[in-house]
Amino acid sequence: MSQCAEALFISDLHLCAEHPATTQAFTDFLERSVIGQTERLYILGDLFEYWIGDDDSDDSFNQRIIQQLRGLTDSGIALFFIAGNRDLLIGPEFARATGATILSDPHLAQFRERTIMLSHGDALCTDDRDYQAFRRMVRDPQWQAVFLAKPLAERHATAADMRRQSERSKKQKSLAIMDVNANAVEQLFRESDITTLIHGHTHRPARHQLEVDAQACERWVLPDWDLESKPVRGGGLRLEGNELHWLALQ
Ligand code: MN
Repeated sequence: MSQCAEALFISDLHLCAEHPATTQAFTDFLERSVIGQTERLYILGDLFEYWIGDDDSDDSFNQRIIQQLRGLTDSGIALFFIAGNRDLLIGPEFARATGATILSDPHLAQFRERTIMLSHGDALCTDDRDYQAFRRMVRDPQWQAVFLAKPLAERHATAADMRRQSERSKKQKSLAIMDVNANAVEQLFRESDITTLIHGHTHRPARHQLEVDAQACERWVLPDWDLESKPVRGGGLRLEGNELHWLALQ
């Protein structure tokens, strides 16, 4: 890489012990493309396939990822995290252990030459009403308090159930329903007055150019990571100066 990037953006790695190749790709990515290569790393949700609470960090898999992220922040890289639907229970203990700053969704990130709006992206999928109802439930602080008070084993079982249900319902829904809603995207641009949005969640990497109230806007969608698929999927975006570039896995 010719120069140090101002920021890198990734999302939807869905890391878990059952996917060692993707986990290895993440480790390699940190060593080759992040450490010494960027000032900031933004993780825009679903870093983990599931996260049942910060008190599960004794789990050796979670501990390994936490230590890798800590190595990153110890090296001087600023690490930012937006929760996805899979890991929205990531909290202050995770932030303390990794040195990450947890951001709200959406977040306006200020860079030297531009401001970029960042989001996980699931809030924009308003056509999927079942999902939005589910989203409201799990984002309710009271639901979270009740869930987090349950024993770890019970929370693991619930998470496994939710993953199975999510897989089943994804097979039944049309691709259009699971994509972002155009009006929701336009509204977000309008409310923020920012012309660039980066998000993940839909697993449909693309750069969409659109016009909102005669303003040219762009919406970049990050790829998900799956090193067991053919062809493999992964990577993210790199901000250098005023420009965003796709960043492939090396
Ligand atoms: Mn997601």
